[in-house]
Amino acid sequence: MSRKDTILRAAKRTAKEARAAASSRRGKSRGSVGVDPHRHCVVCWTPVPLEEEPAVCESDECLKIHKKRERSRKRLVILMYMIPAITVLFLIQGVMGASG
Ligand SMILES: [Zn+2]
Repeated sequence: MSRKDTILRAAKRTAKEARAAASSRRGKSRGSVGVDPHRHCVVCWTPVPLEEEPAVCESDECLKIHKKRERSRKRLVILMYMIPAITVLFLIQGVMGASG
């Protein structure tokens, strides 16, 4: 048996193994979970339907807390965009001042 044959055989075997692994992975992912897909209330983690939007239960308290969190999250996102923008603005101003 030549060296070339050995390498060729090894390559073929690896390809076959990879294909087998891929197909078995695909088979496993479908079904067999046992629980219907669902979400949890972001405040108290009570299971809620998947299509529930926002993902909070019927409790007024949870809705209130969720709204408060959402507000502060939006403020944080705005800050995260504003700070780099302001930094860039100042940088450009500094470069312009130095050159001109
Ligand atoms: Zn809740």
